[in-house]
Formats: sequence, structure tokens, C-alpha cells
Amino acid sequence: MPNPTRAKDWVSHKLFWMRTGFKDPYSQEDQNTFAQCDAMCSGPEHVPAPTTQAQPSFCSLPVFHNPQPPDSAPGGGYVSHDGHVFLCKNPITLQQAFHVLFVVDISSSMSNRDRLPLPNTPGSELISRRHFNNRLGSVFSSLYRFWIARQAAYGAGNPLARRDAYSVIMFDRAPITCTENDFTSSPEQLLESVLQFRTGRGTNFGAAIDYARHCMERNWSSERSPVMIFLSDGECRIEEAAMQDLCRRAVVLG
Ligand SMILES: [Zn+2]
Ligand SMILES: [Zn+2]
Repeated sequence: MPNPTRAKDWVSHKLFWMRTGFKDPYSQEDQNTFAQCDAMCSGPEHVPAPTTQAQPSFCSLPVFHNPQPPDSAPGGGYVSHDGHVFLCKNPITLQQAFHVLFVVDISSSMSNRDRLPLPNTPGSELISRRHFNNRLGSVFSSLYRFWIARQAAYGAGNPLARRDAYSVIMFDRAPITCTENDFTSSPEQLLESVLQFRTGRGTNFGAAIDYARHCMERNWSSERSPVMIFLSDGECRIEEAAMQDLCRRAVVLG
């Protein structure tokens, strides 16, 4: 190829042969294939298995099409995060979904300023402005980044696509619900809801775990495995029985 470092124009198969002035030597079937976008669905059902051939699913639009908006999906199909349109099932809906329970320690020690939200990360400016320049602020900052990362995985601008449920429980000497079994809030709305809280007195891990277990049981769904994320600076102890109880209930419920 001449000048390998120089950027090249991409042209379609059809335009290439039109420019040469020769008749396209390829069959009509090949010509049709070459006129289509070559983006492929990454779904696991298209990968060849030991007994079956690969069944690739290509984008249904012409080659070099503009990225399509997320809401233009055809019936039964989907639009990928980079704007290709597929007629097969969105691989993300085939993935495991979770009920993620965040259990956040807001005891007075969380107002220590030895740990701060990382500067120049999403939300850190807002979190600091709202007087969370402390351990709790760094927890909120990591929660926010977790929510953003999950949203990006589902495709931005498509909040209805979130299949994971979120619950946020705050606790000091007693636990309280911030958000329960939520499917629709954006990362910004979730961050705003946690910023309403202030650090309080006392720490009771046992009560918090018990409370979180009830939240898990109330919202149990066979479609979503529970995941509990416990965020604390660790200045308390927990009875082993409370943890065993939690795990046993999860096993009983399936
Ligand atoms: Zn597919
Ligand atoms: Zn495409």
C-alpha cells in the first residue's frame, strides 16, 4: 500500500467499481453483502460451539451509516452503544441482573477528613461543595462512579434499560432507608439522594445487617441475585450470627 502512514478514505465496494468504469465482477449476493454495515453483535449465541457453526448477526443498516439514536431499535432488536442496529436480542438482557444493596456507615467517624473524594473525578466538585470533604464524601464519590460505570455498560440515554435494582441503606446507631429497589433513578438522582444525609452518632453493624436482610427479603426476585456492598470505616464489631442469618435467608430464598 502506498504511503502506509497516510490516512485513507474508506469507500464502499459499489463506489469502488463504479469509479473503475468496469462491471462489478462479484455476484449479486456478494454485492448485497458488501453494501451492508459490517458491525457484528457480540452476543454469546453467535459464537461457534463445538457442534454448531458461527451464526454472526450483522448490523441491518447500509455500510458507513450514521450512528442511530438508542430509541430507534426495531421490534425484538436493539441499538448498540455505538449506534448500530441489530435484529437479534440485546446481549445485555441475557446477562445476569442484580439487586445491589449498598449499606453505608454514616457514623460520626465518617466525618474524619483523612480520606477525601478523589479530586477531578465525576461528582467530586459537587460532593465537596455540599460539605462532604471527608471519609463519607469518598464513599459517595465511589458510589457515584459505580452508578455511572453501570449506566455506561447499559448504554447512556437509555435509563429504562437498567435491570439491576439499587437499594441504599444508611446507618449509624440505627439504620434508615435512602433508596429501595430502584430501577429508574439516574446516577445524578441517586447521588442527590445520598447527599441529603448527615453523619450521626453511634455505630451498630448488627442492626444495619438485619435491616438490609429485610430489604433483601422484601424485594426478592428470582431474576436478580442480591449483592450486598457494606461501606464502613470499620469502627464496630458484628455478631457472627447476624451474618449467618443473612446468608442462610439468601440460600433459603434461592
Ligand atoms: Zn445478537
Ligand atoms: Zn452498523
